Amino acid sequence: MTKFVYDFAEGDRDQRDLLGGKGANLAEMTNLGLPVPPGFVITTDACRAYLAEGREPESMAAEVTEHLTALEKTMGKQLGQADDPLLVSVRSGAKFSMPGMMETVLNVGLNDESVRGLAAQAGDDRFAWDSYRRLVQMFGATVLGIDAEHFHDALEAAKTGKDTKNDLDLDAGDLSTLVETFKGIVSEHTGRDFPQDPREQLDLAVRAVFDSWNSPRANIYRRQERIPTDLGTAVSVCSMVFGNLGMDSGTGVAFTRDPASGARGVYGDYLQNAQGEDVVAGIRNTLPLADLEQIDKSSYDELMGIMTTLEQHYRDLCDIEFTIERGKLWMLQTRVGKRTAGAAFTIAAQLIDEGLIDDDEALRRVTGHQLAQLMFPRFDPDAEKELLTTGMNASPGAAGGKAVFDSETAIAWAKRGEKVILVRRETNPDDLGGMIAAEGVLTSRGGRTSHAAVVARGMGKTAVCGAEELEVDVRGKKFTTSSGREVVEGDVIAIDGTSGEVYLGEIPVSASPVVSYLETGEIDAGDELVVAVDRIMGHADSRRRMKVRANVDTGEDAGLARRFGAEGIGLCRTEHMFLGERRSLVEDLVLAESADDREKALAALLPLQIEDFTSLYRAMAGLPVTIRLLDPPLHEFLPDLTELSVEVAVARERGELTDKQEALLENVRRLHEQNPMLGLRGVRLGIQVPGLFAMQVRAITRAAASLAAEGISVLPEIMVPLVGTVQELQAVAAEIAVVVQEPESQVDGAPVPHQVGTMIELPRAALVAAQIAEVAQFFSFGTNDLTQTTWGFSRDDVESSFFSAYLEHGIFGVSPFESLDVEGVGELVEIASWRGREVRPDLKLGICGEHGGDPDSVHFFHRSGLDYVSCSPFRVPVARLEAGRAAV
Ligand code: PEP
Ligand code: MG
Repeated sequence: MTKFVYDFAEGDRDQRDLLGGKGANLAEMTNLGLPVPPGFVITTDACRAYLAEGREPESMAAEVTEHLTALEKTMGKQLGQADDPLLVSVRSGAKFSMPGMMETVLNVGLNDESVRGLAAQAGDDRFAWDSYRRLVQMFGATVLGIDAEHFHDALEAAKTGKDTKNDLDLDAGDLSTLVETFKGIVSEHTGRDFPQDPREQLDLAVRAVFDSWNSPRANIYRRQERIPTDLGTAVSVCSMVFGNLGMDSGTGVAFTRDPASGARGVYGDYLQNAQGEDVVAGIRNTLPLADLEQIDKSSYDELMGIMTTLEQHYRDLCDIEFTIERGKLWMLQTRVGKRTAGAAFTIAAQLIDEGLIDDDEALRRVTGHQLAQLMFPRFDPDAEKELLTTGMNASPGAAGGKAVFDSETAIAWAKRGEKVILVRRETNPDDLGGMIAAEGVLTSRGGRTSHAAVVARGMGKTAVCGAEELEVDVRGKKFTTSSGREVVEGDVIAIDGTSGEVYLGEIPVSASPVVSYLETGEIDAGDELVVAVDRIMGHADSRRRMKVRANVDTGEDAGLARRFGAEGIGLCRTEHMFLGERRSLVEDLVLAESADDREKALAALLPLQIEDFTSLYRAMAGLPVTIRLLDPPLHEFLPDLTELSVEVAVARERGELTDKQEALLENVRRLHEQNPMLGLRGVRLGIQVPGLFAMQVRAITRAAASLAAEGISVLPEIMVPLVGTVQELQAVAAEIAVVVQEPESQVDGAPVPHQVGTMIELPRAALVAAQIAEVAQFFSFGTNDLTQTTWGFSRDDVESSFFSAYLEHGIFGVSPFESLDVEGVGELVEIASWRGREVRPDLKLGICGEHGGDPDSVHFFHRSGLDYVSCSPFRVPVARLEAGRAAV
């Protein structure tokens, strides 16, 4: 029979699937002998069964009873016992941390009687009533679904009644009155009294945690973080310890290293006389953890010792929640901590130096996504800036935009293309949508461990938190600085998440030091981050099997890509060489009616193409350069039919219509396509327009031959796009074979070294790859078109059309144009690779669709045996890193 409940002592950290991250780590700490309050975990199996059936699995209640009885025995008191109650916390804990997304209920077991027992035991009436009011409040909001504002307003009213803003000024009498008010709110909104039976409280709280897995905010978070929707959450039930028993008690959060920079030291926040939620919610401003040394040296020393134990044990940065109850330290949670992109690199390199991990492990601990973040620009240090205030540097980066004061506005404005900064007093999980939509987040309260900070760091979003001098007026949609300056909704501000500074107006940004290192290879030995990136990139390069090339069309970009480490060009889209002024040359060619006109148009293009290719070759001297023959969707190179029709009509009206105009309209009408992406493109155009591909091949080989004469070795790879059958490729290959016999295309009496290959970007091509490989020396997967044609999704339209509905319905977690659809499109890639290599074992395989720079896709291409990925220049370092990670 499935076991649904585990004591902490029965689990370990490898059971995150079953016990959730929190439960598994509580188990691990228990078994390490650290001071964890006893408790048990209800498994994710139970949650999944509950979500599927709509009720708890049958044997669960009995198991809970059994573990609760054991816990009561250990603690020497019963749940909710009138004279000395055992109280428990009920917390969610999924496999992947989802900070603040799901529910927590503290102080379960308190009721009208046991509150007096607790008061007597603690010798503190105020504490007991404060704990009870927290229970009714949390239970009311999370378990019974009452709008939290009702409780909040009642609490504020109680404080106003005492003429104070501080919770601590409410005495036992005030709090017991408040409990009555809260209970009234519960009866009014649910039609029933607050449950007095402790076991009923526990069961309902567990169920609420299960239900919270499917809350809208949890769903949004999972989508954002690509967490599968079917994992479910575990529930940990833990005996309560109290940080709100007076000034010798408190609660805090600690990091074993700075999660923002990676620096070693004492990082965290501490709040005296408070319960855990107060710190995370950023409701009261906290003390720096280092102050604890003065407040309670012995707990501080013990905590420092535990932090060392945990780091050594987990071999990584840990974050910790702890509580001190009357001078006794308790560990409530630990996990391998979230960190900024920069800290990820810095810490990984530090841990190698400390002998805790090796280079392979360091490589596993960083991601291409993090590297990409480090390549973002920063505010130009020399720009003029008007500083408004300085807050906590909670999540690095530079962001600017219009100030908005609520999540809905952030989403609405971002949707219409505006950059916004979400400004809040503090954020809570309901602000998630706005945080995603905003360029950055600014809060006036809460520390580095507040909700805003934790979530922003996780998303790689710039955030400045706890800018206390700002008076944020959410209703009035404005904030005021200490000098009285007002910023209203729509005013542009800029925030620097690295320094914590907040500025008025727009500020120019400058390149990141990581980019300049990646480009030049120069290392400033004092810059720990750059040194770490260099070390880990070096290791990635030494481990990766796949090469990384770039998609570029100009010599300048090719040079940049090469400096970023590109090992050749994987795709030059020659149609990009004909945008702008040269567009009319292609138009002339396509519309030419006589062989003579066509020859003229081609002759005009040849020298331009020779020049284009020469500059690519020079930048990539010694490396392979894949040049794709022209592949325009035709509509991009012809006048717009509607506009032209209007022009012609107007000219006719005025009696100014020329024969040329009329012929042009006739031609454009003839060539107009309903579905240009499935129309006269790629190889089809090459076959339809005689001489076009021959001209391009002439330019490719002539440019190579003249550079060879200069002693510059060049390896052109001529690539034919949109092939669906080998006959198409044969036709083009025959044309190529003729051109390379021309003397200008030869070196020392032989054709200049070159290869002929094709893109695989149609499902049919993938399926008949064996035939195509008889002719092609290489395949390059065009996963953009292959995704388009496999799914039947128009790549230009769908992402702004129904994809958001698909994402919302969980039909896919991420757009298949962004991250390769491994099951479908990936299967075609593997079929084609396998069939092609059966025929031609040395067939070179690459990929040049956008997926070449997507971290997850790069891992798939590695597994599929591809020789290289090709991506845009800025993605080259990301692909190098991920190709290395895929190999360890
Ligand atoms: C592709 O289809 O994946 C590809 C690289 O070609 P393009 O994006 O130019 O169609
Ligand atoms: Mg394509």
